[in-house]
Amino acid sequence: MKAAIFQGNKRYLIVEKETPRVTRPEEAVIQVKACAICGSDIDPYFLSPEARGYVSGHEPAGIVTEIGDSVKDLAIGDSVVANAIVGCGRCEFCQKGIDSFCKNRYPTIGFEIDGGFAEYLKVPHYRAIFRFPSESYLR
Ligand SMILES: [Zn+2]
Ligand SMILES: [Zn+2]
Repeated sequence: MKAAIFQGNKRYLIVEKETPRVTRPEEAVIQVKACAICGSDIDPYFLSPEARGYVSGHEPAGIVTEIGDSVKDLAIGDSVVANAIVGCGRCEFCQKGIDSFCKNRYPTIGFEIDGGFAEYLKVPHYRAIFRFPSESYLR
């Protein structure tokens, strides 16, 4: 698949990467149809000379193409949006829905692991994936 990796100094490189596959039961892979460009992508684009070793993009939407064995309430073909921040799901913060305060978060999509500026994206836990109200939203 094709993916965009920031090279520093206002430069992205389109690279060929292996398409991610589900390797753990709670994971899902989505075919990215859109990925917003956030202020936190724009600042380093203009200001940072440092290349990144992972694919950027943390506000992705797409179609579910693969799900792990323990994934609930999600099916292949669903139109979804994914949250970059995925909490443990068990601590007091996650129970209140404020995963960003979780001390045992999964690596953050687009910052610590590959993000959505790519044809496919692996999401580390299905808790971070939300279905659009209409199944045809992204088609
Ligand atoms: Zn953002
Ligand atoms: Zn938590």
